[in-house]
Amino acid sequence: MTPASPWTTRPAPRRLSTADIAARCATPAFGEVLTEHMVSLRWSAGDGWHAGEVLPHAPIAMDPAMVGLHYGQVVFEGLKAYHQPDGSVAAFRPEDHARRFRRSAARLAMPELPEELFLESLAALVDVDRAWVPAADTRSLYLRPILYATDASLALRPAREYRYLLLALVTENFFGAGSPPVSVWAGTGYSRAARGGTGEAKCAGNYAGGFLAQAEAAEHGCQQVVWLDAAEHRLVEEMGGMNIFFVVDGALVTPPLSGTLLPGVTRESVLTLAARAGLAVREQPVPLADVLAGCADGTITEAFACGTAAVVTPIGRVVTEEGEWRVGDGATGPVTGRLRAHLVDLHLGRAPDPDGWRY
Ligand code: PMP
Repeated sequence: MTPASPWTTRPAPRRLSTADIAARCATPAFGEVLTEHMVSLRWSAGDGWHAGEVLPHAPIAMDPAMVGLHYGQVVFEGLKAYHQPDGSVAAFRPEDHARRFRRSAARLAMPELPEELFLESLAALVDVDRAWVPAADTRSLYLRPILYATDASLALRPAREYRYLLLALVTENFFGAGSPPVSVWAGTGYSRAARGGTGEAKCAGNYAGGFLAQAEAAEHGCQQVVWLDAAEHRLVEEMGGMNIFFVVDGALVTPPLSGTLLPGVTRESVLTLAARAGLAVREQPVPLADVLAGCADGTITEAFACGTAAVVTPIGRVVTEEGEWRVGDGATGPVTGRLRAHLVDLHLGRAPDPDGWRY
């Protein structure tokens, strides 16, 4: 350990037996099965990053006047680590998540966690909670870094003290085993992000603002929201926690990174894999009207959502205030299936990794 290292303590010991862990992971509903430990790191203007520790996962003390609680200086990330055939554990594209974490923090006037500390925190947690990394192909360890403002001050300005925590949880496929096609709701009642706002940052408030739209989607029999641009509700942007792709006349099309949608790491992986597989790939504005027309006349043969949690999940039906449209034959299409299989093989160490995405 170098003198400049912020890490101060050794990992807390494991408390649960392998059998206990297996019992807790029997049916891991997304977000429910947390591992035994967490990493904590603090930042202050005077000391920079310091007090790095691996702690038992437990409630945290906070001042009720904490800035993060009142003014929403909270950013987070979500990435996964997978059991590998040789018994090791590989996180998928953690450097890219570390970079996005920095950009999100910068947008909210928060300190940027250096990439090497982000990676060290992942290694420390996976190391101590290794027994929790599931071996089943449909499961993984979801890692949740979060940074929030801890100053006890109601002054309306950026905080001067922050805490970084890294949690881990055991996940099954987000939409259930096998990832059957989902239905999506494209309503015009709510907006996610406007130009100049925080849409491309992974900040907590973006998600709170989406919950009512998600409830509306459920009322229309849909699992997810498709967000449209805030100005005109005309262009498709992304989904509640995923990016979106369409197969149009055999080409793969996705909305461009306009500043109002999250630059997904999976989105980037899909673009790379598709281009390498010889598919025509286009990042271009996608009017909702064109999606509905394309579903009706058959030029859109497939649509899918992609993200760390969803991996690649087919979209079988689009529902709007005007009616509903089936995508292709409503089942998983060949392009979606191939991209999903390739990505899963990369995650699980079954495909060559020319880009060094496994860490
Ligand atoms: N959009 C939103 C709003 C998200 O929350 C996520 C999940 N982080 C994504 C897209 C997909 O991003 P990634 O592929 O990096 O998980």
